[in-house]
Amino acid sequence: MRESRVFFALWPDTATASAIEKTIDTLQPTGRRVARRRLHLTLAFIGPASAQRIEQLCERAADIRVPAFTLQLDRVGYFSRPRVLWLGASGVPSPLVTLAQAVRDPDDAQDCNQAFRPHITLTRGADPLYDPARIAPIDWPVARFSLVQSGAGGAPGAYRQLGQWRLV
Ligand code: NAP
Repeated sequence: MRESRVFFALWPDTATASAIEKTIDTLQPTGRRVARRRLHLTLAFIGPASAQRIEQLCERAADIRVPAFTLQLDRVGYFSRPRVLWLGASGVPSPLVTLAQAVRDPDDAQDCNQAFRPHITLTRGADPLYDPARIAPIDWPVARFSLVQSGAGGAPGAYRQLGQWRLV
């Protein structure tokens, strides 16, 4: 059966995406910059999923009741193994934690045991920044979340929104 690689994510609105781009411009990081249309924060990486499982994920997502919230992006960090430079938050609002837990697949023990480290990947194949602390904070009003397909046939690639749900 053909499966699609899928993940739940938050997609920035136009103003937030512009502010993130401005931050990347200011940082002038090394590596491959993530295209503006691909900037996002992953809530849960589901991985390869059949059409039937995607339908179930959408049904569960439609039942989620979590209030809208503002996420202040004020911190730049670095994952050394994938050489990823990211933008994150020093304070994680409780609705974000609740939402990330709600979209996780309860049958996937590996995902459920993985710590939630909310971040927006800015560049890949990057070197660490000399002074990553100084950035202008961005207030991101988060009002919806999405289920997204990455690539085709289970390999990463172009993103396609499969569903989007409003926070209450
Ligand atoms: P992806 O691997 O399908 O990942 C989608 C999202 O899920 C990303 O936010 C990623 O986090 C997260 N994720 C992936 N695996 C995860 C895991 N095991 N646990 C938790 N979260 C996970 O797509 P991608 O991140 O856009 O691309 C991955 C690689 O494939 C990159 O090196 C990219 O350059 C390359 N690629 C890109 C394209 C393209 O069309 N641009 C095509 C083919 C390959 P992170 O952001 O932290 O990785």
